[in-house]
Amino acid sequence: MIKYINRRDYLKTAGMFFATTNILPILAAEEKELKQSEKDIIPSGPEPSKPIDSLEWNRTIPVKYNADVVVIGGGIAGVSAAAAAAKFGVKVILIERFAVTGGMLTTGGVASFCGSIDKQGEVFDEILSELTVWKAIKKNIFDHEILAIVLQELLLRRGIKLLLHTRFVDVVQKDGRITECVLAGKSGVEAVRGKVFIDCTGEGDVARAAKYTTIKGRPEDGLQLPMSLMYFVRHVESNDAESQLPEGWFHPIKQKENLPMTSIWSNGPRSNAIKIKIPMFDSTDTESLTAAEIQARRRMMEVHYYHQVVEKRPWKYDHCSPIIGIREGCRIVGDYVLTVDDLRAGRKFNDAVARGTYYLDGHKPDDDKRTYILDKSQLKIPPYQIPLRSLIAKDGKNLLMAGRCFSADQLALSSARVSTSSSMMGQAVGITAALATISGQGVREISATEVRKIVEERGGSLDVTSNEKVWG
Ligand SMILES: Cc1cc2nc3c(=O)[nH]c(=O)nc-3n(C[C@H](O)[C@H](O)[C@H](O)COP(=O)(O)OP(=O)(O)OC[C@H]3O[C@@H](n4cnc5c(N)ncnc54)[C@H](O)[C@@H]3O)c2cc1C
Repeated sequence: MIKYINRRDYLKTAGMFFATTNILPILAAEEKELKQSEKDIIPSGPEPSKPIDSLEWNRTIPVKYNADVVVIGGGIAGVSAAAAAAKFGVKVILIERFAVTGGMLTTGGVASFCGSIDKQGEVFDEILSELTVWKAIKKNIFDHEILAIVLQELLLRRGIKLLLHTRFVDVVQKDGRITECVLAGKSGVEAVRGKVFIDCTGEGDVARAAKYTTIKGRPEDGLQLPMSLMYFVRHVESNDAESQLPEGWFHPIKQKENLPMTSIWSNGPRSNAIKIKIPMFDSTDTESLTAAEIQARRRMMEVHYYHQVVEKRPWKYDHCSPIIGIREGCRIVGDYVLTVDDLRAGRKFNDAVARGTYYLDGHKPDDDKRTYILDKSQLKIPPYQIPLRSLIAKDGKNLLMAGRCFSADQLALSSARVSTSSSMMGQAVGITAALATISGQGVREISATEVRKIVEERGGSLDVTSNEKVWG
């Protein structure tokens, strides 16, 4: 029986796609079994699929590329890693599955830098100054379409080999080292050989393929920080602003209290950017992520109905981001797991190579309202340091990571995942990887003091002595 999806049932539907069953008691929702409606079909069916069989897959493929440093994932962390490594003159390749780099900041539609934008280091400074040249940034708010151009040009200027529309698929390992990554692009299945690999996929795809230890979500049930969809409306004459949601479709929101958490920004002249919260899906699970995208577009039109019809805003739907915004995927367990207690203490580390300057922005994983895991009085924290050990995969010999898949607990990630610290982490691992390939040493033999010195010479600050509490 397919259920009518009201808000409570929506949360329950989401829960079905979560690889856990103990979420269901949380949702002691009244179950309204209403008449079957084609338009309410739960995406991908009511239950996650189980394997029906297994097979061995063997194939000889060309090793088409060879690099010193192989960066997988071209979000802000991956771009910063590739750019920082290439500054040493080593051979760098960057693998990105989409048509543009920037990750959440471009394809995810996020258009602001949170945390301190000062003294992040030369890669971030170059991004800021290029956005300024393009007249595409005001304070920390930028034009995310222009950022896509700025990032591709920065990568090319530094001689980085960029492969777009190329998805990382698998790793080949020898004696505990990753030797090649298997890629799938439009030319087919190929491999890249490298000395050091950097996982900046957000979901820890490389580490998961290598079967290294990863963690996700909150400890009790694995629920991740909620996703959010970014969509955009354009302003029209009021008589052109009739309801775009056809009658009988979805469940138009008619009362304010039924809105999910909805944030509205100006998006330049005659346009707004809108963010709606879509909790309880798993970004590391194909079916759950599919369901999240489908559910998000439905919610978007339901919220849009509220704005058009109830609030009578003269808005027309323009477009939504090509991918739902993902705050948390899979965190790779490193030689050290950064904890929320480290952040609260503004802890300094001997091997500090990056810095975090944003509050504990941890939204409750099982609610679509503006609710936090912690009490609001506990969200402010001092600036804190990020150690190199939390950027080295504990189970590997040559895998580094940066950005939202680094080694941290969920609450530490809720702060450190933002673009500024993701860029700093990327810069630090890019430097580490380049030093390792130049010296022929393993990544653990590289002195964190040396990395830190280079981070600072390149304009990055690791200063956490400020007594100021960090707020958004
Ligand atoms: C809704 C939302 C709002 C946010 N708001 C802000 C904000 O206002 N300010 C702020 O600073 N931060 C914000 N953040 C956080 C921030 O945007 C991200 O955490 C940060 O950009 C993470 O960067 P990243 O490079 O680690 O990951 P991502 O940006 O996710 O980049 C990962 C990249 O890897 C690629 N990739 C993934 N898997 C593969 C694969 N198998 N093969 C090849 N490529 C792959 C992806 O396509 C992507 O380009 C927000 C996040 C969300 C979801």
